[in-house]
Amino acid sequence: MRVGIAGIAGRMGRLLVEESRAAGHEVIGGTVNRSPGPPDLPIMTLAELADAADVVIDFTHAGTALSHAAAMAEARKPWVLGTSGLTATDEAAVDVAATRIPIVYAANFGPGINILLALARQLGASLPAEQYDAEILEMHHRQKVDAPSGTAIALGRAVAEGRGVSFEQSMESGRHGHTGARKPGAIGFAALRGGQVVGEHTLLFASASEHISLSHRALDRRVFATGAVRAAAWVRSQPPGRYTMTHVLGLSS
Ligand code: NAD
Repeated sequence: MRVGIAGIAGRMGRLLVEESRAAGHEVIGGTVNRSPGPPDLPIMTLAELADAADVVIDFTHAGTALSHAAAMAEARKPWVLGTSGLTATDEAAVDVAATRIPIVYAANFGPGINILLALARQLGASLPAEQYDAEILEMHHRQKVDAPSGTAIALGRAVAEGRGVSFEQSMESGRHGHTGARKPGAIGFAALRGGQVVGEHTLLFASASEHISLSHRALDRRVFATGAVRAAAWVRSQPPGRYTMTHVLGLSS
């Protein structure tokens, strides 16, 4: 498989080169923004990359989502998208592109977190929202530019799906000052930033008489690159549509 990597100079981009090659794929080049890319690989525009590649893996910046969605749909090539911090407008553009090409878009490409997402949905369905308060705590490295993390939001969405409620109306994030009492049914978020933490997430359900928590700690961001390369091999044979890592792993239909 010929793989193109958008954001090839980034932390994820460099790991994606290594992991693609380790899986036996050919890396045909990539796109960069400011930093120079690897000296041994051609740097091109996204349109050129999409034309030349069988699949493009994209871990860049949310500001690229609109133009990348248009270019990928135009090139009619599968797209594995890992960039976090997408706005509702960006998400809508991904949905439009997904009518023409297959896209795997996941907040977290690690297998462990995707199993946790399935469990979060199950616990959301099983534990009554009026008795069990859902709170999500995450910590990431000091360079991370968005909060809460895409993975924390995905966990919150899974709980809301399990509860059969709107995530947007349940989300309670960035508490500060005189907030008043916790809203019944809220899904709360807290974000810590510091050091070089790759990614830590805890989902807590707290009732008056018990606490249940699910925790995940990514020790090496390579786990995301390995998952994204696996998604790239999978998405090639899919019809147009928007998929997530749970589809790649066979955890959802
Ligand atoms: P990074 O800052 O090290 O790398 C991003 C790279 O993209 C940088 O080199 C930047 O110059 C480049 N870039 C920005 N705009 C570009 C453009 N228009 N064209 C080409 N390159 C461009 O960050 P990172 O740690 O590699 O993470 C990248 C993204 O992936 C972030 O949004 C991060 O949150 C996300 N991420 C997702 C997962 C996941 O599993 N979904 C895992 C890790 C990181």
